[in-house]
Amino acid sequence: MTQQTTSGSRGLLQHEGLIFEFGSNDSTGVDLPEPKGRKSRLGGVTRAAKPALPGLSEPEAMRHYVRLSQKNYAIDLGLFPLGSCTMKHNPRLNEKVARMPGFSDIHPLQPMYTVQGALEMIEQLATWLKTLTNMPAVAMSPKAGAHGEWCGMAAIRAALYARGEGETRKRVLVPASAHGTNPATAVQCGFKVQEIRAAEDGRVCIDDLMSKLEGDTSDVAGIMLTNPNTCGLFERDIRKIADAIHEAGGYFYCDGANFNAIVGRVRPGDLGVDAMHINLHKTFSTPHGGGGPGAGPTVLSDALAPFAPVPFIRHDEDGFHLVEDAGTGDAKDSFGRMCAFHGQMGMFTRALTYMLSHGADGLKQVAEDAVLNANYVQAKLKSVMSPAFEGYCMHEALFSDAFLKESGLETIDIAKGLIDEGYHPMTVYFPLVVHGAMLIEPTETESKAELDRFCDALEAVAKAAKAGDEALKSAPYLAPLRRLDETQAARKPILRWTPPEPAEAAE
Ligand SMILES: *Cc1c(COP(=O)(O)O)cnc(C)c1O
Repeated sequence: MTQQTTSGSRGLLQHEGLIFEFGSNDSTGVDLPEPKGRKSRLGGVTRAAKPALPGLSEPEAMRHYVRLSQKNYAIDLGLFPLGSCTMKHNPRLNEKVARMPGFSDIHPLQPMYTVQGALEMIEQLATWLKTLTNMPAVAMSPKAGAHGEWCGMAAIRAALYARGEGETRKRVLVPASAHGTNPATAVQCGFKVQEIRAAEDGRVCIDDLMSKLEGDTSDVAGIMLTNPNTCGLFERDIRKIADAIHEAGGYFYCDGANFNAIVGRVRPGDLGVDAMHINLHKTFSTPHGGGGPGAGPTVLSDALAPFAPVPFIRHDEDGFHLVEDAGTGDAKDSFGRMCAFHGQMGMFTRALTYMLSHGADGLKQVAEDAVLNANYVQAKLKSVMSPAFEGYCMHEALFSDAFLKESGLETIDIAKGLIDEGYHPMTVYFPLVVHGAMLIEPTETESKAELDRFCDALEAVAKAAKAGDEALKSAPYLAPLRRLDETQAARKPILRWTPPEPAEAAE
């Protein structure tokens, strides 16, 4: 199984080095004649040496990137069980619309009268987002979920300053199960984080929350709460939590990354939310492997809407306009600008295409099927693995490592074993409130047959692990690279290629 080949290649998959290792500085993919009869106009700033770029022909460059892509697992290859990510099928219709020249070949600095259709498209998407959430306003420019959190918390900070309480209200409550971006955002915006415990059932511990809102609450800025939460559970007491935080004088930031589980069924505006980002790349499709691209439009309540970032779109009888300048006119209370232009245009087109092709009833079915599929996975695996909590889940099934007790194996061994079975591992060791967590989000776009195939593979690995199969400790066996030092890779990444010493190269 671990047999080595001379070339490092395996079964039609070629070994691939870095482009700098085989591309030569002396060769180039194009032959251009030396320019004749033209004097350089660069004066003395012409560079002395050639840039250290790898020269390759077109087929060489193409093969390099295609071979790299073959080493990547992708949603177009199979089920992607990552939890808290919503890696769903991306309909090709979205891609077709995103590539229409009227959307893709325009520039944000073009005169406004030449891009009226594009602005109208952004406005239409904004209307859908406001309708689906029952919120009065939306900031379209944030470019990811975390960026949307920053938008919402910056609006809250601006609202507190406008009330004259910006300096005193600094405390933000964050549940222990929160995604790491939540506390990071709060701190980035100058707040102090106070953690709320998780209850036995995986939800926010209401007693702990209420005890933190007893007595003097003049320092409370708000709460950042995910719903459904990162344990895949709906926060049943969400109205009570919203009321309590409002009574304390704070705002309710809802992390809407898991909107896929409730879209068309629940409107966050009905739950007392003041701000919520929507990860378009999770709920409304868009390929987002490798960390991008993202889009995190953030809906805002009436209380926060005046502080929304610029630019935003206004519509009157003369057409669509952009309000660009914070501190004046319509944007007099705006907290400022978050990025150069209007947001992620390519993702706006994909998201609106997804919405229009599903329709209101289709989006409701998205949520229902996402929840159904997750519960199917939970039911299929619960006799072998240990569900973290009792009862039904929402869009993701969460297991703990309790079933591995006495086996000598850990969650990581199951994740690595799954790679040999042809699947990208699920999310592991998150959320932190569950020991050795394994979080699986199948999404609504997987068929029963595909779910069965995945569950069979995972069940086999889990059974072997439970039985103490030592071989799993060295998995994966079939991946191009075996067990890597992931901590070292994250803490001390080598990001720069240095050419080998000439002596070495001559060897
Ligand atoms: C994905 C996610 C985020 C961050 O979103 P990005 O688009 O990756 O920045 C925040 N919170 C939760 C619960 C998430 O799942």
